[in-house]
Amino acid sequence: MDTHALPTSSQLYRRSAGVKPTGSPASNDCTCIMCGAKLAAGQLVHPITKDTFGESFNNKLDVHQRGDVLCGDCEALWSKDFLQKYSKSYASADGVFKLASNLDIQAFILTPPRPPFVAIFNTRQQQHMIWRTPVCLSSEILIVRLDDDILKVDRSKVLAGISAWQHVVERMKVLGFKGMPAYPERTLSSRSTGTIRADVAEKIGSEGPEGAHAIAALRALRMGEWWALTAVNKVELNNPTSWPLPEKLLSPA
Ligand SMILES: [Zn+2]
Repeated sequence: MDTHALPTSSQLYRRSAGVKPTGSPASNDCTCIMCGAKLAAGQLVHPITKDTFGESFNNKLDVHQRGDVLCGDCEALWSKDFLQKYSKSYASADGVFKLASNLDIQAFILTPPRPPFVAIFNTRQQQHMIWRTPVCLSSEILIVRLDDDILKVDRSKVLAGISAWQHVVERMKVLGFKGMPAYPERTLSSRSTGTIRADVAEKIGSEGPEGAHAIAALRALRMGEWWALTAVNKVELNNPTSWPLPEKLLSPA
């Protein structure tokens, strides 16, 4: 394999997790039907049989590669551990890190992984996440798979959103507003996610430049940034020593 080529998400994650690829050497050059890896003869693969994608496999629509094998990376990650136990995580050359709690998301946003990396956030039961997720090449626009959605998280918008959120919350207290400025919700299942309260926007947005700027910064957020902001909105941006550190789950071999 050309080691300078960008890895597929399965190749990257499998190495980061220190897991060995499985299978037997391919007799010809071939393509993985799941992650799309271009494989040379001799790399470890599994033939595709009528049992490869059985009844319980519910990502048939995602298998759209013109593949002829299941690669040894995808197969090695096809286990309960990676479909469930580690399914809120991100993987880079430094290892696999937790992406489950608010603290984990804070670490991910404030000290993002070195690209390339793969980030997944599964809120369901066992689910194929890794091979369906694009490899992220940026530490500014972070790609995260949340169940069936691909989120793009613009860090600069999130950081601006934190200051904006905190300003609006502070002003709401002073002005006697109850509740929150908006309705972010981490699984993004609520239809009102990302909606800024009209009463809050009107009052604080017209108080002066700072209020107007804060409301505009919140209105600029898309789903990915709301997902992040929900977890990071209480962070002290000016006090980096208070920031949580990434928590490593697995190390490369
Ligand atoms: Zn594969």
